Amino acid sequence: MTARILDGKQIASEIRAEIARDVAALLEAGGPRPGLAAVLVGDNPASEVYVRNKQRACERAGIDSRLHRLDAAAGDARLLELIEQLNADPTVHGILVQLPLPRGFEERAVLDAVDPLKDVDAFSPENVGLLVQGRPRFLPCTPHGVIQLLHRCQIPVAGRHAVVVGRSEIVGKPMALLLAARDGTCGPEACNATVTLAHSRSENLAEIVRSADIVVAAVGRPQMIRGEMLKPGCTVIDVGINRVGDALVGDVHFEEAAQVAGAITPVPGGVGPLTIAMLLSNTLASARKAVNS
Ligand code: NAP
Repeated sequence: MTARILDGKQIASEIRAEIARDVAALLEAGGPRPGLAAVLVGDNPASEVYVRNKQRACERAGIDSRLHRLDAAAGDARLLELIEQLNADPTVHGILVQLPLPRGFEERAVLDAVDPLKDVDAFSPENVGLLVQGRPRFLPCTPHGVIQLLHRCQIPVAGRHAVVVGRSEIVGKPMALLLAARDGTCGPEACNATVTLAHSRSENLAEIVRSADIVVAAVGRPQMIRGEMLKPGCTVIDVGINRVGDALVGDVHFEEAAQVAGAITPVPGGVGPLTIAMLLSNTLASARKAVNS
């Protein structure tokens, strides 16, 4: 194995420690304790794990975390009523609706109901619009985690060719925007990439990926990015989380890719922990804004 392993777990833990220090400073200055309300509908086991991990991370950082559970049969009206209550609650600075919602819920309408000032996932049309215009209120958690990872691992981004595979609203599209941005939370060297956004209709995917200095895989297909598709020495960021039997695997064939790439994130322990850290960061930012508004 030749590639350097980019330890997302370690970097996330550093970021969470910085957030804990900032939360303590906010409280000491007389500010509010940041509060995150998580909404969990139904009993999807993976969602239960994700929400538990987010809550645990909040508690460790000094962020107040409250879980609101609804039955899968509750219906849109009850869920929208809960979101209205959370929108109006001044002790709640961030609202997280854990996805996917069970069948029958209008996911888009539910997400749109979250107050954009508390939309710490950055899913609302207003926050997406601000991001596209280069003046974000909140940065989307997973793409921002990737930027932090690249920056803190000193991987050069500015001027490089980044290929993002996958164009979802949650990962691929905002990832492309952050990589191509003029500036950001980590400065101009951690963005300003030349970006190609690939998807299921892209022709010659292997050729496109092979031209990348940085590959971000966000597809949801186990191990589809193979070693032979990579430029030697490139950086590979594997966002994918796929359950195969009892194991979690990424969208990249790790063993093959690690023989070719210069640096690579593992799954698990790569991007996942950073997504949670950036959610905490957005909740803290929201609490700070509430003080100043
Ligand atoms: P998604 O909404 O299903 O989007 C998948 C994207 O991949 C789509 O744009 C799709 O193209 C594209 N795609 C599918 N098959 C392809 C192929 N053969 N070649 C090229 N592109 C292809 O998924 P997502 O929400 O972005 O999530 C992607 C993965 O990341 C999943 O494994 C998910 O679990 C994981 N994830 C991880 C984190 C984390 O914190 N690490 C956070 C979120 C998601 P079309 O648009 O053409 O259909």
